[in-house]
Amino acid sequence: MRPIRVGVSACLLGERVRYDGDHRRNRFLVERLGRRLAWILVCPETEAGFGVPRETLRLVGEASEPRMLGTETGRDRTREMLAWARATVETLELLGLCGFVLKRGSPSCGLAGVKLYATVNQGEEPRSAATGLFARVLAERYPGLPLVDEAMLADRGVAARFLRSVRARWRALERGEIRLRSQ
Ligand code: SF4
Repeated sequence: MRPIRVGVSACLLGERVRYDGDHRRNRFLVERLGRRLAWILVCPETEAGFGVPRETLRLVGEASEPRMLGTETGRDRTREMLAWARATVETLELLGLCGFVLKRGSPSCGLAGVKLYATVNQGEEPRSAATGLFARVLAERYPGLPLVDEAMLADRGVAARFLRSVRARWRALERGEIRLRSQ
């Protein structure tokens, strides 16, 4: 039997991959959920080559097609991130992923409600909200993949539903009801 593989934003498991070299270890994921799942750790910003430490990033422009810009230099990292995300999501599919836990609020990993700005000017208030670039590619490429963020999992009802969806997808993979692209 294949393990129940679930992707996770690496900082949530204690990896020091955030822009400032810190992490956001989530105790529930590490000590409870992790006992039942085989985590696949992913950090879009470090794996796309942005480094640690790095300048902070923000989403700018339209919610339907936001750009990812450095807040100090204004450097546009959108193409790099999208190219990395598309290639990585192809690889993740081959692993038979059953779900993904994403970091709330991140311009890369945020599932929804990521602050969206008109410009990179510091001090400016966000004008609306969007989805992080990696999360967006993941959701588009995997329409049936159970997705959640760590804040949503604080609701144990949501956590239980997420686990049920993950197990259902795992069973469907085991029975061959979901075909991986390589098959
Ligand atoms: S939120 Fe995503 S991109 Fe940011 S440090 Fe965590 S895993 Fe990396």
